[in-house]
Amino acid sequence: MTASPASGPLTEGPHDPEHDPGASYALERSYVTQLTARIPSTGGRTVDHVSPISGQPLGSIPQSEPADVEQAFVRARAAQRAWATVPVAQRQEMLLRLHDLILSRREEICELICLESGKARKDAFLEVAHLAMTARYYGRTSAAHLRTQRLPGMFPGLTHVELNRVPKGVVGIISPWNYPFTLALCDGIPALAAGNAVISKPDAQTILTGLIGAELMEQAGFPRDLWQVMSGPGADIGTPMMAGADYICFTGSTKTGKLIAAQCAERLIGCSLELGGKNAMLVLRDAAVERAAEGAVRGSFSNSGQLCISMERIFVADQVYDRFVERFVARTKAMSLGASTSWEVDMGTLISQDQLDTVEAHLADAVAKGATVLTGGKHRPDLGPYYFEPTVLEGVTPDMTCFGTETFGPLVSLYRFQDESEAIKRANDGSYGLNASVYSRDGARARAMARHLKAGTVNVNEPFGAAFGSLAAPMGGMRESGLGRRQGAEGIWRYTEAQSVGTQRLLPITPPLGLSEEKYAAIMTTSLRLLKKLGRA
Ligand code: NAD
Repeated sequence: MTASPASGPLTEGPHDPEHDPGASYALERSYVTQLTARIPSTGGRTVDHVSPISGQPLGSIPQSEPADVEQAFVRARAAQRAWATVPVAQRQEMLLRLHDLILSRREEICELICLESGKARKDAFLEVAHLAMTARYYGRTSAAHLRTQRLPGMFPGLTHVELNRVPKGVVGIISPWNYPFTLALCDGIPALAAGNAVISKPDAQTILTGLIGAELMEQAGFPRDLWQVMSGPGADIGTPMMAGADYICFTGSTKTGKLIAAQCAERLIGCSLELGGKNAMLVLRDAAVERAAEGAVRGSFSNSGQLCISMERIFVADQVYDRFVERFVARTKAMSLGASTSWEVDMGTLISQDQLDTVEAHLADAVAKGATVLTGGKHRPDLGPYYFEPTVLEGVTPDMTCFGTETFGPLVSLYRFQDESEAIKRANDGSYGLNASVYSRDGARARAMARHLKAGTVNVNEPFGAAFGSLAAPMGGMRESGLGRRQGAEGIWRYTEAQSVGTQRLLPITPPLGLSEEKYAAIMTTSLRLLKKLGRA
């Protein structure tokens, strides 16, 4: 695999000629062939795949037909039946092996992610780290989460109850292009750990990254048919996936998420939905301003703002507003924007013309209605087809599209606030509820404020990493940002059916021989009162 830099950072970033030898952005043909060999494609159709960094071809991708998806489910069902009998401890060992494999192949994985998605290498590494941590977390905790649990029975000593966590069967995972490595895999890890098989449908724009994940799974010891990857547009592959799966884990836009939810409802299967956001950062009057400015840059411009938990609205206390804006704008101006897969680039490209069109439309609308551009605001075709500068806006009002609609690009708006209850109210405006961030020197006060924010995760003195990177912590959205949670116990329990097994011993739950129903009801009433007195639940 070889890759090379173009040039032209906003401010010139250091360049590493050893890492980027100067060839074109390309993947060796044999590498692409090896990855795509696992795509079922009986129709023989292929599509050309290009890198958003340069628009240059990366290879030719076989496309799956609906019949290929149906056959994949047949293989997955057979594999799952055998897999469900494999002890959880053995599954955990494979996950810990996966952890090591991910880290040992990290440079290769980062390079592929960069070439396919156009993101900066540090953003690619974040994916590698998150997935390794996910493998370690479930590699260490699955047995505890899945253990059969003893529960209090109806009558102490007489009724014995156990809770089993039974696998759902075959789980369909539909993932987006923005974090193509971790989002294609991190939700599948607990699905496998719980005894399920997975049919994965990564976004077509980043299919190779999804395929390297499948290769790693197999190397870690998971049977090949347990993790199969389908290739093609969502609308084509989605229908047979929805028809075959026992559960769907979807990550993507709220619009598609609602469609998926309706289809799951038709079949009465469960789903988890990880959707969009319009996330707010609150910088309180006692915030450490420099730290908040650093967090705002990372929070707003990681992966060129194409991050579901990134900050698109920043509310700043009047007392620190001017200082914060000065530091935030200075730090944004200092970012290097580069067409390179090297470590030195701060921000890469948007992934597609669609993304570029959205960012440009939101910006043009805001400017036309009176918003001020404090820095950025320009498309950079000199770097590559979809590069766009990190952009900070002031004076955004409710009539502007970017006020409440997710841009999913490097466009962030600043707002001044006078009192904190007003800031909370404004942060809670709209229909989303994914992530929020609070900067304050008083952690306890910031955490107390979190309880009033409508967001599935709240990060204190950090834009997103503290909650997202803590694998024991459930993660997901409130309101139109989603349903269900990934990570933690909830992240694995969603792939199981809770099965209660009650055993009645000694006496039946009916009047014993010779006792009338009336007498039995009287004895039961006394027993129930006693159980309450004894503090039983
Ligand atoms: P999208 O909804 O267009 O696509 C996501 C996935 O769904 C892709 O794999 C796509 O091929 C597939 N898909 C599209 N139509 C489908 C259909 N009819 N049936 C089945 N599958 C279909 O989303 P996108 O634009 O690619 O991703 C960006 C969005 O995802 C943003 O809104 C972002 O906030 C959100 N996102 C959320 C999270 C999260 O964890 N909450 C993470 C990343 C991205």
